[in-house]
Amino acid sequence: MPLLVIIILLILAWFLYKLIYYRSNSFIELKNKIEKYTKDCNDLNDHIYELKRTHIGIDQLDYGKASYQDASNYNYKRPELKKQVFAPNICNCSRSVCDSARKQPFKYVCKYFNIKSTEENLEQFENMLNNFEAAENGKNLLVNEKNNIINGISSEIPFLIKTFDKKNLEKKLGFEPIDLSTIYFPKYIFKYTSSGGNAATQCDVVFNLDNLNRFVVYLSELVKFKKSAAGQRALMTSKLRKSILERDGYTCQKCGASQKNEPNLLLEVDHIIPISKGGITSVENLQTLCWRCNRSKGSKLDF
Ligand SMILES: [Zn+2]
Repeated sequence: MPLLVIIILLILAWFLYKLIYYRSNSFIELKNKIEKYTKDCNDLNDHIYELKRTHIGIDQLDYGKASYQDASNYNYKRPELKKQVFAPNICNCSRSVCDSARKQPFKYVCKYFNIKSTEENLEQFENMLNNFEAAENGKNLLVNEKNNIINGISSEIPFLIKTFDKKNLEKKLGFEPIDLSTIYFPKYIFKYTSSGGNAATQCDVVFNLDNLNRFVVYLSELVKFKKSAAGQRALMTSKLRKSILERDGYTCQKCGASQKNEPNLLLEVDHIIPISKGGITSVENLQTLCWRCNRSKGSKLDF
């Protein structure tokens, strides 16, 4: 019995200690001191969120909604599905289609989800790859930067707080949570269920960075095959992106911000003349921009 009382008292003391600390002047001063940096981190977090929302604006056949709602484990998966901005694309198909999709995923995704091998679609997938890669890259840089900032003030934070209340500390300092899940990658599902419901097979094709890179090459081959000489531009793949960043010395071509001075700076590859204005993907028409410049460029084009 006395042990239980001691434990309860300790827990109460811990909560009280935290309550007092986070309301103390020294904590509020600390929070204000790094306000500029937390704001920058949160801006980048928002930007990453926008990058992840890049959608293939392709008019696909919608097989999805009904079976998506009916899935028996729908409720179970709900919290995860919320993170998925766009519902997965589901195709209810025969067993042989399901098996073939496993062997030749790209071919069957194009066929059953109506992705035509056009130059426009290819550009959309390249754009998606470019944005998703920046988002994945940005997430890691953001985590590093947040840890850097907190390490920088570590000596001013009480030992108990920084050791046992790290997550809450980040929140109290004003950092928005960083979503590290990769569930936003588009998913194409081939689903076969026998009429009695006893047999079922499923083939999921997830368009992660690796698959997007390969899909861009796959689609470009089909486009080139159709148009032959016309497809003579560069493909916006991870490889090209990296070569542009290297050429520009990992430095923003607009404001001069560089990874030399800011190791956790997110750099993006941008079309100087946008594709929508007739620009093409070529080494000459690509430049390195920091996320802040790219973001402001984007919003200027919108208005
Ligand atoms: Zn810049």
